[in-house]
Amino acid sequence: MWHHFTKRHRLAFLLALLSVVALVLVGRWLNATKVGGQQPAEPFRIAGNFYYVGANDVAAFLITGPEGHVVLDGGYPTTAPMIMASIAKLGFDIKDVKVLLNSEPHPDHGGGLTVLQQASGAQLWASDASADSLASGGDDPDVILPLRALIWIGVLGYPAARVDHRFKDGDTIRIGPIALTAHITAGHTRGCTSWSFPVRDKDRVLNVVSVCDTGVLATSRYPEQAADRERSIRVLRTLPADIWVTNHARAWGRYRKFVASGTAKNPVDPFIDPEGYRAYIDAAEAELRQGRVH
Ligand SMILES: [Zn+2]
Repeated sequence: MWHHFTKRHRLAFLLALLSVVALVLVGRWLNATKVGGQQPAEPFRIAGNFYYVGANDVAAFLITGPEGHVVLDGGYPTTAPMIMASIAKLGFDIKDVKVLLNSEPHPDHGGGLTVLQQASGAQLWASDASADSLASGGDDPDVILPLRALIWIGVLGYPAARVDHRFKDGDTIRIGPIALTAHITAGHTRGCTSWSFPVRDKDRVLNVVSVCDTGVLATSRYPEQAADRERSIRVLRTLPADIWVTNHARAWGRYRKFVASGTAKNPVDPFIDPEGYRAYIDAAEAELRQGRVH
């Protein structure tokens, strides 16, 4: 009956269809990026100078030092005020944050960086692919078109961040005694960055790995993605991890470990979880083999 419709009717029908498709995709996107994961959460010390300052699921971390602090990830634009309140609650000054880092530039991790940057004056470092996205307010050529259009019109985008420095895979970002090494573990996005760094806690040095999300979204695909994920899994397996986290706090058991920390003889011990790190990578590899997308 298609040919019975007038041109105008066909256009209206197509527009309606496109709207429905866009709504379904936005729903999937919001679910995948876990908008629900931005309830306020108690900030806490994980170990030494390494703190949790994120929301209940959308993670953010503070690493403090005598020459300036580092904040990893900014949450959504609306998460940033929570992150700043958490930093203040721990007794630190947002103005002493000198370095901003990012796991990946989707709105749940890159969206709040501009707010944090404006409040702190900190320098933002990003991988090449992430830098392009952060500097354009979340645009990403790998995101499927209907969603990309929503980024362009500001529904899914965020205020563009000023990227001060671009790093290459394996580069180490230093400020005072803090040294964080960037590992570009592409797959979720092309510039997805995992971070490894040592943390001194009393008389021991603990290796921390912050893993960039390893899952793949149906709305964010690119041709080299499978090969990138293979490589990323290999890279992650080589990193020594006493403590591991990811940019979604549920994935590494933030709340469970935080609660256990409250009653542990040494409050750091519940965060020491090399087995959990290996299990996370195994699960990422299983998802890749099964072709599972979110
Ligand atoms: Zn993402």
